[in-house]
Amino acid sequence: MRPPAETIVVGAGPAGAAAALALAEADLAVTLLDDNTRAGGQVFRTGGRTRRGPGWDPRGAELRARIAASPAIDHRPDHEVVAIHADRSLWVRDADGRVVRMAPRMLLAAPGAVEIAVPVPGWQRPGVFGLGGLQLLLKGAGTVPTGPVVLAGAGPLLYLLAAQFRAARVPVAAVIDAAARPGFSTLLGLAAQPSLLAAGIGHRWRLLWGGIPVLRRHAVTAVDGDRSGVTAVEVARVDENWRPLPGGRRRIAARTLGLGFGVRPNIELTRLAGAEHGWDTGLGGWFPKRTDALETTVPGLFAAGDGAGVLGVDNALDEGIIAAAAIARRLDRGGILDWRAAAAAGRRQRRRVFREALADWSALRPGIFAAADAETVVCRCEDVTAGEIAEAVRLGYRAPGPLKMATRAGMGLCQGRVCATAVQHLLAEAAGIDPGAVPPPSVRAPLRPVPLDGFTEMAAD
Ligand SMILES: Cc1cc2nc3c(=O)[nH]c(=O)nc-3n(C[C@H](O)[C@H](O)[C@H](O)COP(=O)(O)OP(=O)(O)OC[C@H]3O[C@@H](n4cnc5c(N)ncnc54)[C@H](O)[C@@H]3O)c2cc1C
Repeated sequence: MRPPAETIVVGAGPAGAAAALALAEADLAVTLLDDNTRAGGQVFRTGGRTRRGPGWDPRGAELRARIAASPAIDHRPDHEVVAIHADRSLWVRDADGRVVRMAPRMLLAAPGAVEIAVPVPGWQRPGVFGLGGLQLLLKGAGTVPTGPVVLAGAGPLLYLLAAQFRAARVPVAAVIDAAARPGFSTLLGLAAQPSLLAAGIGHRWRLLWGGIPVLRRHAVTAVDGDRSGVTAVEVARVDENWRPLPGGRRRIAARTLGLGFGVRPNIELTRLAGAEHGWDTGLGGWFPKRTDALETTVPGLFAAGDGAGVLGVDNALDEGIIAAAAIARRLDRGGILDWRAAAAAGRRQRRRVFREALADWSALRPGIFAAADAETVVCRCEDVTAGEIAEAVRLGYRAPGPLKMATRAGMGLCQGRVCATAVQHLLAEAAGIDPGAVPPPSVRAPLRPVPLDGFTEMAAD
């Protein structure tokens, strides 16, 4: 195996792959690490096998072919970065389970986004999925639910998945959208990306055509079930902040519930490295602060794609090029990628209007977390309820760190990956402060569970 290159890219999704290919074009060697067996990230990894499959996108297969053909790119699948330090050195769990240390001169973090989980009473029942998880099953394995399905949440994925399910003949009983119908000014902003707006309108028409009811300004407030799983969902109207309104509950029979309120940047790498972060609901929540060249506040650590702000696949591809150009300049290969980076930066700028309109329509509103009652489990790893979190805040634990110590919320196997956003909002609600005023959660190495004997080789170095 080759020694690691002086530039390492973490994440072989659109952002990381575009960066690696651009660096290769500038004659720079790059090690591309990704914890999956296939390059392509969240959107290109699956669905590229057959032209007729849902989510088929030729860019995925093309990306993989170009990575495989490039002698400058050392793509290492099944490699998971489990720690990152302020000097940019990494601990990487390799495909054989060993933890190895790598110390690049330049590092690009492109880890993508993670789904935002919103707990409601009964959400742990078998049959409740994240929208992204359901889509992954559909695209990756062609697996679809058989019984009636309710899809609930907000944002474009809700309508995309409903349309994909309709095409796959899945019986979708209803789509429950917490957001209101987009107003004229929002539609005008969305029109800045005409193809995406047209796709969204197309999905909506397909639902209308298929007779699938869409309830706007509604949310799921409870999941009913028996020992076999979900039997029905309870639905209520919500206010403009997505807080469920009293009364007027109705029940919809369902065997599967897909719940999804968008995604947030996966900031565990940039947080662990000690980079500064900011808060922007339009970007999905906490994001690493970056220069125009996409360098974080840790020198030599760049961040690109949804991991630095949820702006979609085209933006991720562009940010990969911008970061690669900046890294090439730093490694004395400046100029070669500059014109491509300038074009990418222009496109990125033009997407701003669309992004603002999208956020205006569907970015997460804090009222939705009021659907959880005191008994609702929020941290599923450690069985911590919303009531226990509110009580700890009342006792004075008003920051994520102390709250974690007091309740164990976020201390389990997933290390808060699932519950972090809910804990943040429940803390804010109980403390009477803005969610953005709650500091981001602390992150500890190793980021994922690693067997102790994985470290033996590194210890022997
Ligand atoms: C659940 C979900 C569903 C989506 N569905 C759609 C859709 O249908 N259509 C659409 O256009 N967009 C969709 N998106 C958005 C789209 O996936 C992103 O905009 C795009 O993939 C962003 O590219 P990226 O390179 O930033 O991140 P990603 O594509 O997510 O790639 C990041 C890669 O980094 C890897 N990684 C993360 N952490 C580590 C680590 N510590 N060590 C090693 N590897 C790591 C990840 O496994 C992943 O392969 C979805 C996003 C999510 C989260």
